Amino acid sequence: MIEDFRIKKVVLITGASRGLGRALALRFGEAGCRVAANYFRSKDAALAVVSEIVDNGGEAIPLCADVKSSAEVNSMIDAIYERWGSIDVLINNAAITRDHLLPKIKIGDWEETIATNLTGAFNTIRAAAKFMVKKGGGHIVNISSWSGVKGKSGQASYAASKAGLIGLTKSAALELGRFHIKVNAILPGFIKTDMSGSLPEFLQDQIISSNILGSAQDIDEVAEFVYHLSWMDHISGQVFNLDSRVV
Ligand code: NAP
Repeated sequence: MIEDFRIKKVVLITGASRGLGRALALRFGEAGCRVAANYFRSKDAALAVVSEIVDNGGEAIPLCADVKSSAEVNSMIDAIYERWGSIDVLINNAAITRDHLLPKIKIGDWEETIATNLTGAFNTIRAAAKFMVKKGGGHIVNISSWSGVKGKSGQASYAASKAGLIGLTKSAALELGRFHIKVNAILPGFIKTDMSGSLPEFLQDQIISSNILGSAQDIDEVAEFVYHLSWMDHISGQVFNLDSRVV
């Protein structure tokens, strides 16, 4: 069902094939936005997300690009602009984990994690911001993590990438505010996805029980928050924690 047709916003979601990215794509698609659904390896899953949006009367396209590659990101963003003439919302959601205790982290895993989770967002922000500046506004939402604020044993590379993403969020907000481009980050809380499913069960239980409400986060609640944040005109440079752990 299409709602809220003030304008057909063009939304790029990285890593929209699975997990939170998928939920975000469906939420923005349902609202009548034009959804550019980026994926890297999961082509069939991305095509299924796009079909679901289109079958419900929305507009969406699948776009394969490795966010680690600035060349692939630039081509993807140019393709979106050529098709729809705008990029209004960018959601940096794509991420990986390569969890090990510090002595066991291989340099390749460290580099791949930083390149995907942090350099990936840097690549998309640089490419999309130029079109947002041209249009005179936009909203960028970076999906960070509790690990980036508090750290987590066994997650040094992931936590470092997500902490870096918060620094990137704040700096980009300061630079881009004068162009009416809002840049915010969220910490989604523990949501059941392929990524969180790779954590040992005892750690999943530990995270859930550290929430004062005693529950995991609901993926659709996170998508709902990001959708509404993308409409906000006076909020930038902020980090929103979406669970019930007290920061
Ligand atoms: P997920 O299920 O593992 O999905 C990750 C997504 O990232 C996939 O769509 C994957 O695409 C994409 N991706 C990975 N490498 C990529 C690359 N090089 N280029 C483009 N896309 C790439 O993860 P999730 O749990 O939904 O996490 C979504 C976001 O929430 C991440 O930023 C994560 O750090 C954050 N987060 C999650 C939790 C949680 O509890 N799940 C908690 C805090 C923060 P392909 O499959 O197509 O390669």
